[in-house]
Amino acid sequence: MSEKNMQEIQGFEEARNIILKSVVVLGAEQVELLDSLGRVLAEDVVAPWNLPRFCNSAMDGYAVRAEDCGAGQMLPVIASIAAGGRPVKAVTEGTAIKIMTGAPVPDGCDSIVPIEQVEVSGGGIRALGTVTLGQHVRLAGEDVKDSETILAAGRLVRPYEINMLACCGRERVAVVRRPRVAILATGDELVELGTIPGMWQIVNSNAYSLAAAVRQLGGIPIMLGIARDNLASHREKLKQGLEADVLVTSAGVSVGDHDLVREVLDELGVRIVFWKVNVKPGKSMAFGMKESVPVIALPGNPVSSMLTFEEFAAPALLKMMGRQDSVKALFPAVLQSSLRKKKGQTGLVRVKLECRNGRYLAWSAGKQDTGLVKTMMEANAVAVLPAEREGFAAGEEVQVHLLGSAVAI
Ligand code: AMP
Ligand code: MG
Repeated sequence: MSEKNMQEIQGFEEARNIILKSVVVLGAEQVELLDSLGRVLAEDVVAPWNLPRFCNSAMDGYAVRAEDCGAGQMLPVIASIAAGGRPVKAVTEGTAIKIMTGAPVPDGCDSIVPIEQVEVSGGGIRALGTVTLGQHVRLAGEDVKDSETILAAGRLVRPYEINMLACCGRERVAVVRRPRVAILATGDELVELGTIPGMWQIVNSNAYSLAAAVRQLGGIPIMLGIARDNLASHREKLKQGLEADVLVTSAGVSVGDHDLVREVLDELGVRIVFWKVNVKPGKSMAFGMKESVPVIALPGNPVSSMLTFEEFAAPALLKMMGRQDSVKALFPAVLQSSLRKKKGQTGLVRVKLECRNGRYLAWSAGKQDTGLVKTMMEANAVAVLPAEREGFAAGEEVQVHLLGSAVAI
């Protein structure tokens, strides 16, 4: 590989920052409203009308003039209006109109007296308490004004934004498109799922956890299968992977005799931005760019591949999908068991997190070897241990983040 591509080992944060700076937000596509859930808006949304659209009642009750309700005055009920109905009469001095929640407030009235707060007798009502001017009336435009920019491009669409978009009559909306993420496993020891592994063989499990993680984030995984440990196979598969929006590889990126990923990426014109990160697990990962296509070459040990995906690939994909909160928030947790780590290297430790009496407590999720998938399943969070520390004792505070799809708590 060429001299210019040989980079020194990167710090944990620096490596992630380099990746985040290198990737760009993808283009937009129109989707149906419900399909915009979890996506990022690629357009400003302007309200086409007032919200509420018209002045309406917030309660089932009686539309009145507040000034008519003093001293137990009896008000004849001259009409009734339901939600979706059209007001036919106005409230005139000394009268009331029965009104349901969401029904348009008739002319002449300024307040609503809830059903529970009137005494009904004959054809009239008497307000039981004091009536405050304007009570229980929802004013047109009090939530959103006609022509107001109610949602800006860059906004994450949650069920709440969906409600607002529906209120504005939007059947379709422009969102940032989802990245197509090519996933390539490498190694002669691998067999595909569906084949019983022979002696000295293992199932290509990494491709599935990586594809699942891509899908969980909202990306579109493309399974490229397995590149065998020879140049021709690597060339064919990696070339194919570079046609996607992102290429993620597993294994073959260390210093073993058959680790060919970097060499072939270089040959295919991928600029290797860095190789090696000062983090455990994940030291041997590499990152490169071929034009706008990021290539994230992850280590092969299952836990290393899953954790490096979590720390480096997930933020990149989220940024490409337009997310501004692409790096997970760290928060403190109090260790309930000691954690060991090598000094001089950031440590990613799988932990079990629980909230008790308003504090997060963390336990080691089990043995931390990178081949042990069970510990990964036991964990719901990762403790990010700073390079300068050698270990942490029970009772000390560590910084953690949740595993999985949640970016923030
Ligand atoms: P390597 O980086 O190629 O030296 O692989 C490191 C370790 O990860 C070896 O024990 C491999 O067998 C294992 N490994 C590599 N690829 C996969 C995969 N796709 N699924 C599960 N384990 C893998
Ligand atoms: Mg290998």
